Amino acid sequence: TSCECEFGGDRFSPYSFFGAVGLCEAGCEANPPCPPETLDWCTVTDFADLRREWNDLAQEVRQHRDLYYNKQPIISDAEFDELFAKLQKLEAEHPELAVPDSPTMEVGAPVAASSSFANVEHLEPMRSLDNVFDLDELRKWLERTPSESYLTELKIDGLSINLTYRDGELVQAATRGDGRVGEDVTANARVISDIPHVLNGSDKYPVPAVLEVRGEVYISIDDFPEVNAQRIAGGGKPFANPRNAAAGSLRQKNVEDVRKRKLRMICHGIGYSEGFTPATLDEAYRALEAWGLPVSSKTMLVHTTKEIIERVDYWADPANREDLLHEIDGLVIKVDSIAEQRALGSTSRAPRWAIAYKYPPEEVTTTLLDIQVGVGRTGRVTPFAIMEPVFVAGTTVSKATLHNQTEIKRKGVLLGDTVVIRKAGEIIPEVLGPVVEKRDGTEREYIFPTFCPACGTRLAPAKEEDADWRCPNTRNCPNQLAERLTYLAGRKAFDIEVLGEKGAFDLIRSGILTDEADLFDLDREKLSASKVYTAKSGKINSNGEKLLNNIAAAKEAPLSRVLVGLSIRHVGSTASRALAARYRSMDALRAATVEDIAETEGIGSTIAQSFKDWFEVDWHRNIVDKWAAAGVNMEENTTEQLPQTLEGMTVVVTGSLEGFSRDSAKEAIVSRGGKASGSVSKKTTYVVVGEKAGSKETKARDLGLTILDEEQFVRLLETGSPE
Ligand code: ZN
Repeated sequence: TSCECEFGGDRFSPYSFFGAVGLCEAGCEANPPCPPETLDWCTVTDFADLRREWNDLAQEVRQHRDLYYNKQPIISDAEFDELFAKLQKLEAEHPELAVPDSPTMEVGAPVAASSSFANVEHLEPMRSLDNVFDLDELRKWLERTPSESYLTELKIDGLSINLTYRDGELVQAATRGDGRVGEDVTANARVISDIPHVLNGSDKYPVPAVLEVRGEVYISIDDFPEVNAQRIAGGGKPFANPRNAAAGSLRQKNVEDVRKRKLRMICHGIGYSEGFTPATLDEAYRALEAWGLPVSSKTMLVHTTKEIIERVDYWADPANREDLLHEIDGLVIKVDSIAEQRALGSTSRAPRWAIAYKYPPEEVTTTLLDIQVGVGRTGRVTPFAIMEPVFVAGTTVSKATLHNQTEIKRKGVLLGDTVVIRKAGEIIPEVLGPVVEKRDGTEREYIFPTFCPACGTRLAPAKEEDADWRCPNTRNCPNQLAERLTYLAGRKAFDIEVLGEKGAFDLIRSGILTDEADLFDLDREKLSASKVYTAKSGKINSNGEKLLNNIAAAKEAPLSRVLVGLSIRHVGSTASRALAARYRSMDALRAATVEDIAETEGIGSTIAQSFKDWFEVDWHRNIVDKWAAAGVNMEENTTEQLPQTLEGMTVVVTGSLEGFSRDSAKEAIVSRGGKASGSVSKKTTYVVVGEKAGSKETKARDLGLTILDEEQFVRLLETGSPE
């Protein structure tokens, strides 16, 4: 409806949430008038758009939050964070939009009306945490929250719980709910073995009269596949990730079912208490630990911004997360002093004395278009997912591993499913599971192939109990042979630069090689049948010349590299070096007994047996004999060690270098006595930055480290100094 004012603007209700209606778009004096501070945007015609945008966003956030807490989420955590940040940004730019019932002011989600659990009120509200997403934001938070001491805690990706102990006895457990009222899950919490029913009091730590303990319930990464397998076996739908599994499990009706889910818990704070007045949170954690409650051994007391950033960097590195039982999605920084916490206080949503540094998204959803299988160097048949390309952890990916067919069943994914995929650092992306809610009935089950897609041989597990299927045509299966050829052409073996996957397949398809035995007999005449290594005229092209030169040079490689090139199971470069160093020649090695080989330092019986077994096969022995006949060196005659120019130094290489691969740069550092690290910290001596270096370069600059280009790196390797 139009306003009757002189502007004739449309009436609308930007303040409907306040109960006021009928404001004029043009900001006239009609009743009720636009508040003066809003006139600016009240007269802007796109205000209606702004309001609509806010409404849509707020609605979306509410919906996903409800799914997250009360049902199964259908978007990833990262997507949710993005939505939430967008809403916060909009409200920051237009504070008028930030009404009291905005989702940005709320904690968690109200308990669903349909919940079968009783509602219980927390003694002290359970707040959420504000997030920062980069170091700049973190620094700003630290500037406005100065303190002598902070705690850094891992942010576990699970479900929050509030435990109430009276005189040391567990009397209630509740989910967070909306922060004020949660669901009573006491019976379920009692079967979580990490949660003590009674607290152990002592003289030093007497049990308080009343204590609210806040913690996170989670399922360990190791238990997750089994929990999903159980659920599928019971006719249920698989969980997309451990967090969903934990949330779903804590809310089961049957206590016995909860017990089977192997839920774990770690404390991350205290709420209301009587008879307990710790001066610091650190002290509170020590008391909790003494009472028998689980606290994290990874929590650290730190004092400076520099130390905090170091912790952020440390946990950003997936390698440092490997031995964690649970997933983490951030690092929480908390002011340690309880008095300071009180002075800082809280907003309606979150305390001002704590902040969560959120790591970049590692989980995203996309569509599973197809599943294909690859045949590896050892004949292992590995299914991998072909997906709608999606951006995750810094790169666009369209393929992800599915490990083996048992895993596909365990994960319960169907072709056409929307799937959750995860990528941590440099690890190959992995399909975690399907988003069952997004199925529309067109999804189909995947049938694992019976025959090798490369050579047509019937597939079988090597041993009956093996989960992996293999192509038994080890010698001639083109995929296996091509993989072996590219492997032996690698820098750790013969370093034949121009023999890549394409070249390997060409040599096999053109009939030049039927296995690797003839590799060192290659000559111009034989190579003329190739497509990759010849020009249109039929003459050997420059790559062909290079191949022949490389092969000639490779004949001089030391025995340790020859051993690597044989693709013997368990015999990689470390084992090869140990064997070559001790036996000095191929003949001596072949003559040695299993027992004798097993006594080599760093070898052991598994490797020794695998080594001897390999030589039992006729065509394997033929490879070694033919190579020797073609002039390949079978002795270990190199003893010289490179000058240890980098002793005591830690060097990080990031981005791509022209003269080094990732591995060869690492080897160059290690072989000169240095430490090659994957993550930047204040202990890093030098950071070598190549093309397209990413966050590591930024961090190095933040920490004020010395940054080298490739030229300086080469100088450093030679002389021990980049100058
Ligand atoms: Zn095959």
